[in-house]
Amino acid sequence: MGKKPLLLVISSPSGTGKTTIAKKLLSRNPDFIKSVSFTTRDRRKGEGEGKDYSFISEEEFLKKIKKGELVEWAQVYGFYYGTPIKFIRKALREKRILLLVLDVKGGLAIKRKYPQSVLVFMLPPTFTELKRRMRKRGAEVKSQQDIRLNAALKEIRFLSNYDYVVVNSDLNESVNLIQSIILTELHKTSRFNLENWEKSLSYKGIKR
Ligand code: ADP
Ligand code: 5GP
Repeated sequence: MGKKPLLLVISSPSGTGKTTIAKKLLSRNPDFIKSVSFTTRDRRKGEGEGKDYSFISEEEFLKKIKKGELVEWAQVYGFYYGTPIKFIRKALREKRILLLVLDVKGGLAIKRKYPQSVLVFMLPPTFTELKRRMRKRGAEVKSQQDIRLNAALKEIRFLSNYDYVVVNSDLNESVNLIQSIILTELHKTSRFNLENWEKSLSYKGIKR
């Protein structure tokens, strides 16, 4: 099977584990790429500039929107987040698997623009476990954690717009599941180029 591009969006309530899972997928698959969004939120301990996000001011962010550098953008939990169009172009040009970790508005925007994209929604096993993971991560002050937990129920309502659902109980199982989703998607007939396959027949001297 030749190389094929695939845009894979992962969304979930904050604290479910999508960032952790995207990182695992990347380390298991060196050929995958991950979109690095622009954001106006503060950098967390351990996050790398240009690796996890590109951290910019609100003024810079608004300039990027004006210049058309973002394929989609949204205000999430009080901050701006946006996907640089360059990652999508690179994935399509180089026929690579692109992981996009986005909120639900971002996921739907990508699906509208690229109907072949695949949307995976992740759920925590329980709301109590979501709270526990959020507190354990401890990346935000409590008031910001509460904003995120309160948003979870609204976000979950978008589930039916997504193609797949993964309940993130066991981390490795979730990674395996998403890996299987990718493999399945790559074998859809809609992604198969029959013309190229037929051409390969004539190379072998078979008349059509
Ligand atoms: P998100 O990107 O969805 O906001 P993170 O990837 O930052 O979430 O994960 C939130 C916290 O939950 C982190 O401390 C992470 O280590 C932990 N975590 C992720 N997946 C699991 C899992 N399957 N079981 C237990 N803890 C998990
Ligand atoms: P966090 O602050 O926890 O890193 O991200 C907050 C939310 O914003 C998460 O749901 C994350 O997936 C989402 N997000 C990150 N980058 C983008 C982006 O470029 N566009 C959109 N729409 N959402 C994003």
